[in-house]
Formats: sequence, structure tokens, C-alpha cells
Amino acid sequence: MNVLVVGAGGLGCPAALALQGRATLTIADHDVVELSNLHRQVLYTHRDLGQPKALLAASRTGAKGLKLKVTAENAADLFRAHELVIDGTDGGPTKLMLSDVAVQTGVPLVYGGVLKAHGQAMVIRPGGPCLRCLFDESVEGPTCAQAGVLGTVAGVIGVKQAELALRPEDGLHVFDGEKLSWRTVAVKRAADCPVCPASVDITREVCPMTYVRVKLAMEKLEAGRLLEVWLKGDEPLKNVPQSARDEGHEVLSLESHGERSRLLLKVR
Ligand SMILES: [Zn+2]
Repeated sequence: MNVLVVGAGGLGCPAALALQGRATLTIADHDVVELSNLHRQVLYTHRDLGQPKALLAASRTGAKGLKLKVTAENAADLFRAHELVIDGTDGGPTKLMLSDVAVQTGVPLVYGGVLKAHGQAMVIRPGGPCLRCLFDESVEGPTCAQAGVLGTVAGVIGVKQAELALRPEDGLHVFDGEKLSWRTVAVKRAADCPVCPASVDITREVCPMTYVRVKLAMEKLEAGRLLEVWLKGDEPLKNVPQSARDEGHEVLSLESHGERSRLLLKVR
């Protein structure tokens, strides 16, 4: 599996270490090693101060290093070049941006966050639920650098992200670093999420080959928004994705969910 780790800090270092030999890794970071957060950035030592993190982390884990800042402008291309992305960044706005790009490109993201003695991780799959379903953008939380992070918690969450990359599980996995305990919270897609897709179910359609209901649902959506279409799983309806493509819409994914299949479309 081709995995991109965004951020080679407190989360990215343990995640990259835990994925060595289990994934083809690319590590992107624009920063250099600093003394203040060295305690939780386990790929570096004091001899590395001032050196670019991406290149050091890459040389120590057999990865490819990209010395660049992942931004809203370059993120979609970077996501599409990989099968999965790990969020090892610090700070809410970047995390929300990565979450948006994951939903919009259909490339799964493993989110991770730490604050003081607590941490959490979640897989954001094509179509959500996403971070905007969980968090309100207007709530400005402190970054790790501002609030402080227990180094061991960053290590635990980074390794958990690597584990979730290899074996995705639903829900928000929350770690309490004081009690040393995990719990998993079910996460639902928020009805008013500005990023997650609208949904249409055509599994009961008498003549499901018609495509009409999908077309009507897409006409209600603005360009760039996503539509999830539930189809009968036993006979994946190839004509629905093909009809959507013929009209210029983008097919992001078609996956089987037992008796049903889920098609994710991006409106032209
Ligand atoms: Zn969402």
C-alpha cells in the first residue's frame, strides 16, 4: 500500500516507524528539527537540529521524503497519488483541510490528534463521516505547541494511526493517557455537514437501470458536491457509474457493503 504521511512530528514519526516494511511510504514536511519538541519526535536526535524533518525521517524509515508544506492547493494531487494518507499535522485548520480533501478525492485519511494527556484517531473514508461532522470550525482549539502534549500520548496515537491504516475500523478511537484506557465512540455523518455527500438509495428501484433518480438528485447539488448512491450489491450496476461518467461527473469510488454497493459521485 502506498501511504503518504503528512507531517513528520510527534504523530508522523511513530506512525512512519510502525509502517516500515508494511507500506510504501512518502513523508511530507516543510519544517526543520527543533529542540522544543524533540522529546516526542522519536526519529531525530539533538545532532539533527536545524535539519529538514522530511528528509531525515525518510532516510531513517526507507521512505521517500518531500520537503514541502501540504496546502489546500497541492493536497488533492498528493492524495490522489497515494492509496491512503496519515494526518500527522498540528493545528485545527490544516486538519479540517486534509479531512475535506479526503472526502472530496475519495482517498482515505487516518486523522490523529493529541492534546495534553489525551488523544484520538479516526479513519475518514470516502464519503465521510468527516472531521466537520465532529467539530465546529468556529471553535478555535489550541495547537499542540500552544497547549502542550505528553510525548508518550503522541507516540500511542501515531502507532494507532499506523494500525488503523493497515486495519481500518469505524468510529473515533479516544485514548485517555491518565487512565491508559481506550474507548471507541460511534460517529455519524452530520446532516448539515458542508462537505459530506448527499445520499440516494436506489436499491428498491423497480427498474434500477434507469439512472433517473440519480440524475434528479445530482441536479439539486452544486458543482463539486458529492452524492452517495446505494445500489443492490449482488449485481453492481455498471451502467449507473457509466451514465454518470458520460455526463461528465466524476466517479470517486464503488465499494461493496454486503448486500449493497455504495457509489460515490462528484457532481460536475
Ligand atoms: Zn462531514
